[in-house]
Amino acid sequence: MIQSETPASLIMIFGATGDLAKRKLYPSLYHLFRKGKLAEHFAVVGVARRPWTNEVLREHVKDSVLSSIHDAEDIEKFISHFYYQSHDVTDSQSYIQLKDLANQLDQKYSLEGNRIFYLAMAPEFFGTIAEHLKIDGLTDTDGFHRLVIEKPFGHDLDSAIQLNKQIRNVFSENDIYRIDHYLGKEMVQNIEVIRFANAIFEPQWNNRFISNIQITSSEMLGVEERGGYYETSGALRDMFQNHMLQMVALLAMEPPIRLTPKEIRSEKVKVLSALRSIENEEIKDYFVRGQYGPGEDNGQQLLGYREEMNVNPDSNTATFVAGKLMIDNFRWAGVPFYIRTGKRMTEKSTKIIIQFKDVPMNLYYNSEKKLAPNLLVIHIQPEEGITLHLNAKQSGQTMETTPVKLNFANNDVAGLNTPEAYEKLLFDCLRGDATNFTHWDEVALSWNFVDKISNFWENKKAEFPNYPAGSMGPEAADQLLEKDGFSWWPVSNYDIDDCK
Ligand code: NAD
Repeated sequence: MIQSETPASLIMIFGATGDLAKRKLYPSLYHLFRKGKLAEHFAVVGVARRPWTNEVLREHVKDSVLSSIHDAEDIEKFISHFYYQSHDVTDSQSYIQLKDLANQLDQKYSLEGNRIFYLAMAPEFFGTIAEHLKIDGLTDTDGFHRLVIEKPFGHDLDSAIQLNKQIRNVFSENDIYRIDHYLGKEMVQNIEVIRFANAIFEPQWNNRFISNIQITSSEMLGVEERGGYYETSGALRDMFQNHMLQMVALLAMEPPIRLTPKEIRSEKVKVLSALRSIENEEIKDYFVRGQYGPGEDNGQQLLGYREEMNVNPDSNTATFVAGKLMIDNFRWAGVPFYIRTGKRMTEKSTKIIIQFKDVPMNLYYNSEKKLAPNLLVIHIQPEEGITLHLNAKQSGQTMETTPVKLNFANNDVAGLNTPEAYEKLLFDCLRGDATNFTHWDEVALSWNFVDKISNFWENKKAEFPNYPAGSMGPEAADQLLEKDGFSWWPVSNYDIDDCK
């Protein structure tokens, strides 16, 4: 049952010394604490390999909070709830000690046996940890036991099934919170509201009125020091299988009969089931892969992917992927969903562009100008907002048209400080709301779709590199749309870039 208040709970973070915990989890917990959204009764146990003490962890948590919030009130009180245990994830003895500590904290803070196990460490340990939690008795309490799992959930469908089996031996599906942090983003959560709370959009949200939908998620950075991980993943597994397909599901799903996790997830599952399956010989017609070569950004020389640290100099890994998805159902038959994501592109940005079909005839056509299409742009990051592109009359003694924008920028709303995705997701998990986490059925269908493409690509050497660092990807990605008569937005100076 979803609770309105957060209940008392013990949060165990496996990987407490890591990057994710430091950059995201501690500041998010602190925000919840300051907003009064963490129950008075809470404790956090940080678990990792290093031989730290409670004091060292508390200083680390304090530093992490202070790096983003300068006047962190009550920080001493907040960090006093943190405890540390040096731990070897494969050793039962470590779990037995952890159980003793957890039981003591249960008593001390009256936590009612409620436990959240947050696995913020390398995925190869997820299954082992889940099994030990059960075997060594950490789940033997009367309260709830929830498992929060970071991405990637498996490497392909087979490994995901294997991992799912391991964790389902211990936790029921309802208690597994698979993180896709895009689902915690304000504007991703807004997709549903824009669609289902506005009478002007829902009647148009189908193949009679929409010509195509584009989702671009571009990064300016390269792989940085994560080359080792990225070599085993690439853009398809790192971004497409999870974040991009989740956004497609939210854009394309039917209105759920009510806003419960079960109903929303089941509508998303139907979309993923309706994705047109692509056979090997068709992949080139639907998907394009890319890898960045050397390039330049504002006079700064950028390395090519193959020159990056821990990357095979002959690597076949895609750092860019573009795809055309078809959803074969009544609502979407014939409407392409174009998706692209990549590293070392020209800007850091995630945007969704819904392009409506043209009016049946253009009364305002003259030889120089065509009517611009109506677009609905959902700005996911770094800007958060919505822009509706319309045509209006140019001022003056003319009947020429000009494109105009109606804008909503989330951060312009007075006093609104959009919470970090992780803050919202942690809050949801504490209250038992799994809506914005991925259900196993969604994971399985996404891998099933992606495996066909990755298996085909892995067995076929690509002509890489094929786009310079600091560009919008290979030319073939543009051609993917051009052959359907479309282009990636923005086209030739048509400004869709901000929502101000
Ligand atoms: P990291 O390498 O920075 O941290 C790993 C943590 O695991 C450290 O605390 C380390 O001590 C601990 N650890 C490793 N081996 C251990 C062992 N044998 N026993 C006990 N502890 C051990 O990793 P990270 O960047 O924090 O990522 C953690 C997880 O979160 C990964 O699954 C990653 O894919 C996912 N993730 C990270 C980010 C991010 O921004 N860092 C974003 C999305 C997802």
